[in-house]
Amino acid sequence: MAKLATIREHMERYNPQEIEGKWRRFWEKRKVWKVNLGRAKKPYYNLMMFPYPSAEGLHVGNVYAFVGSDIHGRFQRMWGHDVFEPIGFDSFGIHSENFAIKKGTHPKEQTAKNIKHFTEQLKQLGALFDWDRAVITSEPEYYKWTQWLFLQLYKAGLAYKGKAPVDWCPSCKTVLADEQVIEGKCERCDSVVLQKDLEQWFLRITKYADRLLKNLETIDWSEKTKIAQRNWIGRTEGTSITFKIENSKEEIKAFTTRTDTLYGATFLVLAPEHPLIASVTSKGIQEYVEAAKRKTELERRAEEKEKTGVFTGFYAINPLNKEKIPVWVADYALMGYGTGALFGDAHDERDVEFARKYTIPLKATVITGDKKQDQKILSLEQCFTEYGILVDSGPFTGMTSREAMKKVTEWLTEKGLGESKVTYHLRDWLISRQRYW
Ligand SMILES: [Zn+2]
Repeated sequence: MAKLATIREHMERYNPQEIEGKWRRFWEKRKVWKVNLGRAKKPYYNLMMFPYPSAEGLHVGNVYAFVGSDIHGRFQRMWGHDVFEPIGFDSFGIHSENFAIKKGTHPKEQTAKNIKHFTEQLKQLGALFDWDRAVITSEPEYYKWTQWLFLQLYKAGLAYKGKAPVDWCPSCKTVLADEQVIEGKCERCDSVVLQKDLEQWFLRITKYADRLLKNLETIDWSEKTKIAQRNWIGRTEGTSITFKIENSKEEIKAFTTRTDTLYGATFLVLAPEHPLIASVTSKGIQEYVEAAKRKTELERRAEEKEKTGVFTGFYAINPLNKEKIPVWVADYALMGYGTGALFGDAHDERDVEFARKYTIPLKATVITGDKKQDQKILSLEQCFTEYGILVDSGPFTGMTSREAMKKVTEWLTEKGLGESKVTYHLRDWLISRQRYW
């Protein structure tokens, strides 16, 4: 009993400011977080994401992230590691600029003020941060290295300039990142965001797509993360097919993973951003393209969304059977997938939905061998999307889908009308968004 009373008494007198302050001063004086980076016997690098000082102080999410990571660092330290825990401020960028505008100050002054307060708060956490090595990304001592790295990438041909459609705020006069566009409007000023073709800087990460994919096998990430990573890289093997345009010298290259259905292609679809569309001056088409550009990729990909499109007025020639097929522009075709052009047939649900809406004829060319089901497929009652046996496909009739895919691609390659192609969902990294405040 006596013991309990003492503890209670003690707890009543517990004063966090006093006791934590005392130990913080002790740690700081001894620089307990200091590691000799050159001579560490068991080096352990415990990096966490630096906060954006784009507010007056830390938010609870910062603390949530740092405390857990710091516990991990302390644990490693107790195991005898020389733990280096860097800290700094990711202080460049539009968030710092936005906050300064809100406060009516210059980002440079505002950021310095924020950093001062952030530092006090971070120190109160009592984490093992090495304050002697703190970095501020908006300081020349730091960003000279960003610039140096950029130059190395440039010299190696891995940084380049190219034109790309970007989300542009006409009032802020800046490129916006996806998350800064809220329902088609600028997060900062509510202006309607435009899609604009601008000269941009890119890092050529697609050069490493296959390596990124292959080396996933050698790391101990969770399967879930690896799947997400594979989907992000999105390697697809298929065929690029050249469609000649009637009465024109222009050609369209369409990408497909299913050359076995090419015989039954009854229309061609171009993405609104397809370069060929820019040369079509019809008002209706240009209006459609403008409207499509205001939608996000996510909105356009949504399966449940009703497909829309317009006929371009021109026709393409199916290289396999020389049939004339209409060319449409529709926003379910994405420039970021394959070549931004695809052929439509009776064996793809989105194609069928689109064709039905605009009464474009369809022709089934892949069946199962099951009489009852095949009747439904051939009468277009059922959209059969799996592999099967080819019918009504000229010299390829009777082949299985797999055989036909190989043979059709070979045939196209021989005639110079197509080739095997690997596409990636991964794009080169557009890095132009950052600017000085
Ligand atoms: Zn704006």
